[in-house]
Amino acid sequence: MNATKRIVLIGPPGCGKGTQAKRIEDATGMVQLSTGDMLRAAVAAASPIGLKAKAVMEAGQLVSDDIIIGMVAERIKAPDCAKGFILDGFPRSIPQAEALSKMLADNKQPMNGAIEIRVPDQFIVERITGRFTCAKCGAGYHDKFQKPAKDGVCDKCGASDFSRRKDDNEETVRTRLSAYHEVTSPIVGFYDRAGILKVVDGTQGIDDVTKSIMKVLAEL
Ligand SMILES: [Zn+2]
Repeated sequence: MNATKRIVLIGPPGCGKGTQAKRIEDATGMVQLSTGDMLRAAVAAASPIGLKAKAVMEAGQLVSDDIIIGMVAERIKAPDCAKGFILDGFPRSIPQAEALSKMLADNKQPMNGAIEIRVPDQFIVERITGRFTCAKCGAGYHDKFQKPAKDGVCDKCGASDFSRRKDDNEETVRTRLSAYHEVTSPIVGFYDRAGILKVVDGTQGIDDVTKSIMKVLAEL
């Protein structure tokens, strides 16, 4: 892999997208870009677009797609993006995907690939609702995939008190998944029509997902 690569990572909430983006960053020197981080950086740097975003947020309004696109445009000019970037969690909708493509095309830096981490809803629901942690040391467990060796006792510290996150329940997870299917997953079709969609099986183990992504990247 030598040339600059610009990619979008797409996948439902709970698919491990952020973790994978970080791993690609570490392995390739491409930069992981999330809109939250970019927004904080632009505001901190007090760049023109950062000041605009700050004013909008202080007025209690949502940052518009135009501002976000402007922020991405500014961010990807930075020297650390020389090897390319991985957009993580953006675009989130067809209008954003269209605006992003236009901006990149205007800059003669088209997107090289859109990688979808494909995972069935039921798998995500099972993965998220089964999570629990040791209340004492924070060790993570799962009802199905990672049970403590002795039922009800933490492997790491021996405590028997566990907790579950309130939003790790089926209803919340399903609500987030439907929002994803309604607003975001149409961008999968968008990138497919653009001829740059690659699909990776997200039901594999986390290391195998990384391997699959790296393989796709090498072929871009
Ligand atoms: Zn523990």
